Amino acid sequence: MIDLHTHTLFSDGELLPSELVRRAQVKGYKAIALTDHVDSSNIDFIIPRIVKVCKILNKRWKIYSIPGVEITHAPLEEIKPLVKFARKSGAKIVVVHGETISEPVIPGTNRSAIEAKCDILAHPGYISISDVRLAKKMGVCLEITTRKSHSAPDKHVFSIAKKEGAKLVLNTDSHASKDLVTDIKAHSFLKAIGLTLSDINKVYRNSAELAGI
Ligand SMILES: [Zn+2]
Ligand SMILES: [Zn+2]
Repeated sequence: MIDLHTHTLFSDGELLPSELVRRAQVKGYKAIALTDHVDSSNIDFIIPRIVKVCKILNKRWKIYSIPGVEITHAPLEEIKPLVKFARKSGAKIVVVHGETISEPVIPGTNRSAIEAKCDILAHPGYISISDVRLAKKMGVCLEITTRKSHSAPDKHVFSIAKKEGAKLVLNTDSHASKDLVTDIKAHSFLKAIGLTLSDINKVYRNSAELAGI
């Protein structure tokens, strides 16, 4: 399992980075990105701390910890500067919180995130064909999520991305250790949405490529 969207105590997750990574290691994870919620208020506070702990954990443990962020509910015009700032500050995985059906995310967030060339557009809800086409063009990965509050449009995201040739990744958006999934669970989750074995392998390769492993 390579999971590129999770939360720690630095935002609304339940665990310290070290405990989340340890729990993921026990679940058999190969790599995990720590992507706490950020906006202009806290991005400069969170990234250096996550970069620091990832560096230390990578020295000590085999699981690969990757510093990241999830730009969340930011004004549309601020998304691009925040993506740039995140990369400059050392975030290796830049996620943007997409237009999930369960929260009043500003319409146009999916488009702005793709135009900002984030790495992953998280839970993009009922994303439009034109946004999926743009994601393909810009090389932005669209997320299939195991998180219950966001996962209803997963089938929509998969079928439209497959048809248009856009890249997909599977993430858990974990906020607690119970949200982490094993490889086997991830596989059967994707199968239930309708992915073939070759689709699943592609998803896995996209995640590995983003993780740089
Ligand atoms: Zn959250
Ligand atoms: Zn999240």
